[in-house]
Amino acid sequence: MPRGSFSVGRPQKILVAGGAGFVGGHLCNRLFADGHHVICLDNLLTGRLSNIQHLLDHPRFRFVLHDIIAPLPYLGRIEQIYNLACAASPKKYQADPVHTFKTNVWGAVNLLELAADHDARILQSSTSEVYGDPCVSPQSESYHGNVNTVGPRSCYDEGKRAAETLFHDFHETRGVRTRIARIFNTYGPGMCPTDGRVISNFVIQALSDANITVYGDGTQTRSFCYISDLLDGLIALMAAPDSLSDPVNLGNPVEFTMNELAQMVRETVGSRSAIMHLDLPVDDPKQRKPDISAALAHLGWAPKVSVAEGLAQTIPYFAQLHQTLMVAE
Ligand code: NAD
Ligand code: UDP
Repeated sequence: MPRGSFSVGRPQKILVAGGAGFVGGHLCNRLFADGHHVICLDNLLTGRLSNIQHLLDHPRFRFVLHDIIAPLPYLGRIEQIYNLACAASPKKYQADPVHTFKTNVWGAVNLLELAADHDARILQSSTSEVYGDPCVSPQSESYHGNVNTVGPRSCYDEGKRAAETLFHDFHETRGVRTRIARIFNTYGPGMCPTDGRVISNFVIQALSDANITVYGDGTQTRSFCYISDLLDGLIALMAAPDSLSDPVNLGNPVEFTMNELAQMVRETVGSRSAIMHLDLPVDDPKQRKPDISAALAHLGWAPKVSVAEGLAQTIPYFAQLHQTLMVAE
C-alpha cells in the first residue's frame, strides 16, 4: 500500500491513548516509522500487544498499561495526543456500557488536562455515531444527529458526543489545541477477528464457507474507509492549523448496503457461503455516508483506496488467522 503523503516534519513526542487497538496499532506504527517518539497508553480492554509487538523494545517507543478513566501517570513532555481509547465495536462497547461512558467522558477530561498542561495538540477520535440513525444523507458536520439517549448504543454515541463537547469547551475556555475527527466505519488488516463487526464477520464466514449473517433485511448502508486512508486523514488533521477545532468527517463516501457487501465479500473470497438473515440489532442506523467536503477543503484529504482494493488487502490477513486456527484445531 503506498504510504500517505501527510506527515508532521520535526520528530515529536506523541501519546497514543488506545494505541494497542486496531486503528491505534496502525497509527503507532506509522508515527514510529515517521521518526517520532511514541508512547502507547492502553488498558488492553480490546487492544492486543501483537499490534505493537515489534515496537516494544525500541527506545523511541514506550508502552504504558493504564486505564484513561484513572488519573494519568507522569509521562514526560508530550507534544501531541491522539485519543483513540474506546472499544469501537458494538459487541465490545456494550459489554460494560458504564465503563464505555466513563472512558469517553472521564478519559477525555484526563487527556485534555494533560494537553492543557503541556500546550500539546490533542485529537479526539469521534465517530459517525454522533449522527445516530441519521435523517439526512450524506451526513455533513452541521447535521446535529438523531441519537437515542437510552438504547444499547447510547453509552458509545452519547459518550462520544459528550467528549466532543468537552473538546470544544476546553478549546473555548482554556485555549487547548483540539481537533475532532468524526471517523466513519474503518477496516483493514489488524482488525480483531472476534469484534463482531460486519467486515470481520463476513470475511471470516466467507473463508469458512459458513452462512454470512446479514442482520435485518440487509438494506441498511455503511461507507467503509480503508485504514491507510484514515491514518492519512488523522495525521493531516493533527498537522492542520489550531483554528481547525471544529469536527471534520473522515470516511469513504462510497455507500454499500449490507446485502451488497455480503455479495462482494463472497465473490472476492470465492466462497460457497449462503446468505442468512438474522434480527436487526436495536437502534441499528439505517444509513451512513459521510460528506467529506470539509476534509477536502481544509486538509486536501480524500480516500484513495476503493473497497475492492481494501478487501483484497484485508482478506489475506483474515485468511492467515483462519489457517492458523485450522492448524491449531
Ligand atoms: P479498538 O477497540 O480496536 O481500539 C480501542 C483501544 O482502546 C483498545 O486498544 C482498547 O484496549 C483501548 N481502550 C479502551 N478503553 C480504554 C480505557 N478506558 N483506557 C485505556 N485504553 C482503553 O477500536 P478501533 O477500531 O481501533 O477504534 C479506535 C478509536 O476510533 C475508538 O475511539 C473508536 O471509537 C474510534 N472509531 C473507530 C471506528 C472504526 O470503524 N474502527 C469508527 C469510528 C470511530
Ligand atoms: N452487520 C451484519 N452482520 C454482521 C455484523 C454486522 O449485517 O455479522 C450489520 C450491522 O447490523 C450494521 C452494519 O452491519 O448494520 C455495520 O455493523 P458494524 O457492527 O460493523 O458497525 P456499526 O453498526 O457500528 O456501523
